[in-house]
Amino acid sequence: MSDCLFCKIIAGEIPARQVYEDDDMLAFHDINPAAPVHLLIVPKTHVATLADVCPADEAVLGKMMAIAPRLAAENGGRTLPDGGLRVVMNVGPDGGQEVYHVHLHVLAGERPWRGMAV
Ligand code: 5GP
Ligand code: ZN
Repeated sequence: MSDCLFCKIIAGEIPARQVYEDDDMLAFHDINPAAPVHLLIVPKTHVATLADVCPADEAVLGKMMAIAPRLAAENGGRTLPDGGLRVVMNVGPDGGQEVYHVHLHVLAGERPWRGMAV
């Protein structure tokens, strides 16, 4: 999608502080962090929202969830039992989604956080 912000980051056309990449997904720091650690994990294939996901996308969504604790810990988040993380996906206008390319927010670090509207 030529007009999609996250597709442009995936293509390297817009810079981002990348923390992970494989064949299926990319992770980078959110430009406006709501917590001491705030990463975004995106599939490399453009899918606008969680409501648009098809069976072929399910595996990468599972990978995005599964890698979240590792990426939080590698980027300054505290591990359990004292630490932890929050994973959030905003879906559509009522979900507060602003960028229409599926992404998982990974929030971690010592509280208090500036917070998201959750
Ligand atoms: P949404 O509201 O769609 O769930 O979240 C979009 C997120 O993308 C926001 O947290 C916002 O700060 C982040 N964001 C917006 N533009 C950019 C950008 O150009 N680079 C990065 N790294 N993050 C961005
Ligand atoms: Zn996209």
